[in-house]
Amino acid sequence: MSDGESGDVPPRCSARDCRAEAQWELRWNNPRLHEEERRKVWLACDEHRPTLSAFLDARSFLREVVPLSSDH
Ligand SMILES: [Zn+2]
Repeated sequence: MSDGESGDVPPRCSARDCRAEAQWELRWNNPRLHEEERRKVWLACDEHRPTLSAFLDARSFLREVVPLSSDH
């Protein structure tokens, strides 16, 4: 048993009310709030990746979208 061990929790989608496991990492930057090199990260499931990336892209915040499954 390894109760209390953190870091083992599957990452969750950042969409509101979504509890799906995240599959994608959306890296974004708001130039009005963040330095240009800084990256904020939203996690998204397959279903919400288009929604969340469209939201960021519409504001020109989206920098890159990468698969989260690099551990497989
Ligand atoms: Zn989701």
